[in-house]
Amino acid sequence: MSGTERNGSQQPRSPISRETKQLYRSLYAYSSDAVFLLDADGRIVELNPSAERVSGYSAQELQQVKFSEFLLPEDVPIARRKLRTVLTEHHPEEIDLSFRSKPGGLVMVHAKAVPILTNGTVVGILGISQDVTEQAQAVQILDAQSRVLEMIAKSTPLEETLDKLLRMAEYQTGAKCSIRRYDQDVKALFNLAAPSLPESYLQAIEGMEAGERGGACGAAVSRKEIVAVEDIERSQLWERHRDIALKHNLRASWSLPMIDSEGEVLGTFAMYYGEKRLPTEKEIELTRRTCYLAILAIEQNRSNTIIYRMAYHDSLTGLPNRRYFQEKLGESIRRAHNGDSKLAVLYLDLDRFKMVNDSLGHGAGDILLVEIARRLSDSLGPEKFLARQGGDEFVVLLIDEQVPEAEGVARHILDTFVRPFEVSGYELFITPSIGISLYPEHGADPSALLQNADAAMYAAKDAGKDTYALSKPQNEAQDGARILLENDLRKSLERGELYLFYQPQVSLFPIRRIGAEALLRWHRGYSEWVSPADFIPLAEETGLILQIGEWVLRTACTQGKKWIDCGYEPFIMAVNLSPRQFRQPGLVEMIRSILQETGYPPEYLELEITEGMTLDVESASGKMRQLRDLGAQISIDDFGTGYSSLNYLKRLPISRLKVDRSFVRDIESDSGDRDIVKAIIAMAHNLKITVIAEGVENEEQLAFLEENGCDEIQGYLFGRPVPPDEFERGMSVQKVPKQ
Ligand code: C2E
Ligand code: MG
Ligand code: MG
Repeated sequence: MSGTERNGSQQPRSPISRETKQLYRSLYAYSSDAVFLLDADGRIVELNPSAERVSGYSAQELQQVKFSEFLLPEDVPIARRKLRTVLTEHHPEEIDLSFRSKPGGLVMVHAKAVPILTNGTVVGILGISQDVTEQAQAVQILDAQSRVLEMIAKSTPLEETLDKLLRMAEYQTGAKCSIRRYDQDVKALFNLAAPSLPESYLQAIEGMEAGERGGACGAAVSRKEIVAVEDIERSQLWERHRDIALKHNLRASWSLPMIDSEGEVLGTFAMYYGEKRLPTEKEIELTRRTCYLAILAIEQNRSNTIIYRMAYHDSLTGLPNRRYFQEKLGESIRRAHNGDSKLAVLYLDLDRFKMVNDSLGHGAGDILLVEIARRLSDSLGPEKFLARQGGDEFVVLLIDEQVPEAEGVARHILDTFVRPFEVSGYELFITPSIGISLYPEHGADPSALLQNADAAMYAAKDAGKDTYALSKPQNEAQDGARILLENDLRKSLERGELYLFYQPQVSLFPIRRIGAEALLRWHRGYSEWVSPADFIPLAEETGLILQIGEWVLRTACTQGKKWIDCGYEPFIMAVNLSPRQFRQPGLVEMIRSILQETGYPPEYLELEITEGMTLDVESASGKMRQLRDLGAQISIDDFGTGYSSLNYLKRLPISRLKVDRSFVRDIESDSGDRDIVKAIIAMAHNLKITVIAEGVENEEQLAFLEENGCDEIQGYLFGRPVPPDEFERGMSVQKVPKQ
């Protein structure tokens, strides 16, 4: 049915005569341009089939409607001005106009408005419009595309970029658009941007499941292709969410899955219309372009997020890193300052972690750290801010109501370390020492709070490790003292403040002196004697142990050779090796040249290592064999305090086991310790390894050890560690007469 016929039944109110209309009608009926005949008031009185096609309205719907009502509001003033010019000045005008077609899409036309004159008066206007939507849209899309690309390049927040993109798509199509993120873990969709959809609708569908019952978007995710629903009211896909969609006047929807370069579904781009319809080819094309830009924006955002994560998170454990913690702490202090709230910093350092790293290798150390991080974050929960400060140090920030619980949290952390950690087939027992500082009591800025918590952590270590300590003002002084200690230790060698004392080792069957352990002493500033227990860990930490250890070996061998040269019967000289020394690449060479240099017989040199250093059996046994090839002996010091894997003993070239003095100490009172000592002796003898007990101070301990077949003894009962001349005096009885 043509508009011409319908027009026949209307009462024309314009002064355009029936003949004029007839004439124009026959001229333009078959024109591919959209032609409108307007009266002098701008009302539509006549239009051709092309105009119906372009506008999507029927002639009947347009009759007597003011032309300006169809235009986009921003085009109305210019259109009015041009039409007025045509009416008053009687000459044609060209004009670019945009309006919404009936389905809602944007139509852009290039129109020529020609005056219709009857007897010299303008009775109407003939509008001949060329549909330039495609070209204009292409330009507009390109323009919008470059604006969005610019936003992506400038790392504009994702929501903002997507919002802009959707507004552009909505402008082009007249639809209401949305972009939703697909969460693979929960298999559901979450809103990212939807500038025109009502908030109540978005809330209702937030977290909507993907799949065949999740509307067009849900189906688009599972099918990985565009899904167009012509009528929501009758679609199976919308069964669950139909009412809420219809309530918000959403009748048709189509959705395109956003698929990234790896083929993973990132989310969906969807368009909604108020009436039932299917997309046109052009609309699908536009949808695809928009989708492409959205994917770009999301992928860019994702790599920005990864960069951000990398800058603020520790790559090994995934926890926030030192920088993040500093910023978070600074921010919390600023807020606390305004609102008078409280903060607590818990500083955790693992006890003996270095030993794991040194003996099992860094790979195992890393696994342990990851396990610890996991256990800590599980036990602290998401409300408490946990970060890795570096190495084997972790920090926790407590805010407000968590603060009074700070000590409870510290105890809770200690509890989580009770169970062993499984690393590379070993069960490792590891403990932390924790220092706590409070805001505002112990510092007003992040570095003061961290320093004081760190100092308190050292106090916890001094108190025996595996415990926590609260920051105290004197901890600052202790911290200073530590730095001084380190400085002095560095100078101790050149100043000649280090000495070796020797403690006798005695065999029981028969009782005779068979060796000596060389034990380090530091006469600091020639005024105080510092125990090796206080400075060896620091020397180990700073690497000074390498120089010191070399000095110890050279001094012990020189002394041993001197005694031999003096005519004393050669005896075992036991020298302690630290983990770092044992790991040191040139160790074997260094010992070989000291032996050559001093002329000390290698078979009388015994190197004491600890259990922890042998955990990596492969590399430890390699090194031990090289040392054995030099002719030296190897003993395991402090046996029983380390790791429980006894299996390795069989595979290592060990000549002696030194039962730790903690077992000997309580032999009389603790039946458990008695059992352990018995078991160690039995097992060692089974493996043809000699057993020496350390720290034997009284006859009762000696009697028990004798009774249970212990081979040798070292302890105050037979002699304390003493300077070489004093040691020599005690040896005189054993002097072998010179020939
Ligand atoms: P260690 O190797 O287990 O040495 C035995 C420690 O027990 C020595 O303490 C010794 O004086 C002490 N001791 C011996 N008999 C008794 C006793 O009957 N009762 C008691 N209560 N203690 C006894 P010291 O000399 O303070 O050394 C402590 C630790 O320092 C040593 O333990 C060793 O691990 C380390 N150390 C000492 N000298 C060196 C060294 O030259 N290099 C390295 N790397 N470490 C060393
Ligand atoms: Mg020792
Ligand atoms: Mg020992």
